[in-house]
Amino acid sequence: MPLIINCSENCIYQEEGVCNLKHATYSSGTPLKDCPYFKEKPKDKNRS
Ligand code: SF4
Repeated sequence: MPLIINCSENCIYQEEGVCNLKHATYSSGTPLKDCPYFKEKPKDKNRS
């Protein structure tokens, strides 16, 4: 069963509020700003 990580960062791995990066793991809490996997989404048409 996959680990669900809630995330609201503007990250390429984030989709519908959930992290889709399978191997992303946290040791504690939700250090979204400190996520080592964070990659900013290209500013396309993701936001209306
Ligand atoms: S990789 Fe990190 S910043 Fe990106 S969606 Fe997952 S938890 Fe959020």
